[in-house]
Amino acid sequence: MEIFKEIEPLRAYLKQFRQLKSSIGLVPTMGALHAGHLALIEASRKENTLTVCSIYVNPAQFNNLQDLEKYPQTLERDTALLKASGCDVLFCPSHHEMYKNQDHIRFDFGALDKILEGEYRPGHFSGVALVVSKLFNIVLPNKAYFGQKDFQQFLLVKKLVEDLNFDLELKRVPIVREADGLAMSSRNMRLSTQQRKDAPVFYQALQHAKKMLLSGKDLKAVQNEIQLMCERKPGVRLEYFALADKENLKLAESVTGQSILLIAGYVGEIRLIDNLVVGDEN
Ligand code: AMP
Repeated sequence: MEIFKEIEPLRAYLKQFRQLKSSIGLVPTMGALHAGHLALIEASRKENTLTVCSIYVNPAQFNNLQDLEKYPQTLERDTALLKASGCDVLFCPSHHEMYKNQDHIRFDFGALDKILEGEYRPGHFSGVALVVSKLFNIVLPNKAYFGQKDFQQFLLVKKLVEDLNFDLELKRVPIVREADGLAMSSRNMRLSTQQRKDAPVFYQALQHAKKMLLSGKDLKAVQNEIQLMCERKPGVRLEYFALADKENLKLAESVTGQSILLIAGYVGEIRLIDNLVVGDEN
């Protein structure tokens, strides 16, 4: 595996492959890699001649300084995992390499970045759009891989690609879960033993809600039940639980073939998100 910390040598390296008409797959991550990230690498390896993984904890997308400072950084372990997974290139730039200007452009996605995650993490999606645009322009991938776990992020990146005419194909990879249903996340590392036991509550809530909605229960009643389910666990705090249209995340009152349930909350001070499709898959 080739490792690059700087943009220009990476560009020069990738240029040779592009001339050979190789297909380049990009997997952007913030490191502290787990099986969810490795599923993206695997998907890219199947569909491309060259897979590039980026590891960069992007300050511009953190609205909470403590979350940024405590974000796990395990570059040595990540490098070994990537090598073992058959990833071809690792790009792990410094902050100085990624942000020459302190004052950078901001993105506005209209309704899409004001709701759900956008409401609770102001500025987050603008920071995501900025770093993803940079990575697209640096790597010029044919395909880019993102996880279903960050569903709103996927829709946002889709809009970014459409509106800015990035010449690439976006791929969405299903959520990889622990045996007890907890969606894998780098932040799970920070959970204490008790918190780790409580953390699957969000997935359990999604499953329970799906069942209730499909049996015809009213959304308000379902929302109340989910709130109670979370309150029963000390240290768990529900931030939002919503039923929405998976094309545009417009909030819905009842289930359609297009529905998705989204949830976010805290276990102690660790913020977790999850989602579950209620209507038809894909
Ligand atoms: P992150 O390092 O958290 O920024 O995530 C990098 C990419 O991995 C994003 O596209 C995430 O959606 C994806 N990802 C994170 N967790 C999972 C998971 N449990 N299953 C599938 N994809 C994931």
